[in-house]
Amino acid sequence: MLDKYGRNIDYMRISITDRCNLRCRYCMPEDGIEKVSMSQILTYEEILRVCRAAAGLGIRKFKVTGGEPLVRKGCARLCGEIRQIDGVDQVTLTTNGQLLAGQIGALREAGIDGINISLDSLREDRFRQITCGGRLEDTLEGLDAAIARGIRTKVNCLLQRGFNEDELPAFADLAFDRGIDVRFIEIMPIGFGRPETGLSNEAVLKRLEQLYPDLVRDDRVHGNGPAVYYRRAGQTGAIGLISAMHSSFCGSCNRIRLTSQGEVKPCLCYEDSISLKPALAEGSEEGLRQALAEAIDKKPAGHTFEDRGTVDRRAMMQIGG
Ligand code: SAM
Ligand code: SF4
Repeated sequence: MLDKYGRNIDYMRISITDRCNLRCRYCMPEDGIEKVSMSQILTYEEILRVCRAAAGLGIRKFKVTGGEPLVRKGCARLCGEIRQIDGVDQVTLTTNGQLLAGQIGALREAGIDGINISLDSLREDRFRQITCGGRLEDTLEGLDAAIARGIRTKVNCLLQRGFNEDELPAFADLAFDRGIDVRFIEIMPIGFGRPETGLSNEAVLKRLEQLYPDLVRDDRVHGNGPAVYYRRAGQTGAIGLISAMHSSFCGSCNRIRLTSQGEVKPCLCYEDSISLKPALAEGSEEGLRQALAEAIDKKPAGHTFEDRGTVDRRAMMQIGG
């Protein structure tokens, strides 16, 4: 469906839980956040009804996320069921990778089209520190298991000044060695993220160009999002830059978001959302389609992350990252 700015909205991110087995410091406080009772969280049946209605509006691609989606039992089955809905072309997953190795077989069988793994450090001690107790080897095991199964796998990394910025070359090597896309994402002022602690992608690109003089812009299509890619001659792996703060990609935004509590967010930046619960309770697919169309119609022209007062106060894991 086209929104009022002529953008084709064909992608929905679905948060299936607000819970997580990690506590990344820009996303969540160490002692966690108040959990929503399970009775408030959409059931898988309800999520599937929303996906069917969304597919009816021309949404073809779905990303399952959270919180950590793999902590919710039956995540792979849900992905498979979304994949089978008429009109759905693609179902992908975003995960911290901690539980991935154990679920990769089920995800593969479910027909998952791609997996994004969030990984901010390749050093065990730092990984533990940034995630408040996560195990690097588990995420790397998940990454290798996904690659070994032939699943399109990407790594998302947030570089923070004075903390993990020295790992930029190691992450670039990860892309080239494993033949995968590694994307650097600028920290947004969402949740506990403070953009001033992050590295601008302009600085990241400068460093990459120094490290790899043969780096060139990569115009191949890599996915559904706003990443700009770079590659080196003869390498399959590429480096993507997602510059949420320092470049405006809102003009080509193609997405809406469903929170685990059944709200549709037209834009990540703002608190504005539309609850699907009345339409779900009423039971008609038409009601759901109308509510989704209303959310698409409300999509603003762009974000205003530079004005923190306008930004949704909820944590990324409550919104669905
Ligand atoms: N738990 C899963 C994971 O970590 O991939 C899925 C949810 S997580 C909220 C999705 C992504 O949001 C992660 O890649 C994380 O790095 C990113 N994220 C969280 N807070 C952010 C912030 N303030 N700015 C930019 N990205 C953020
Ligand atoms: Fe959990 Fe993902 Fe947030 Fe880290 S970024 S705390 S893994 S939801």
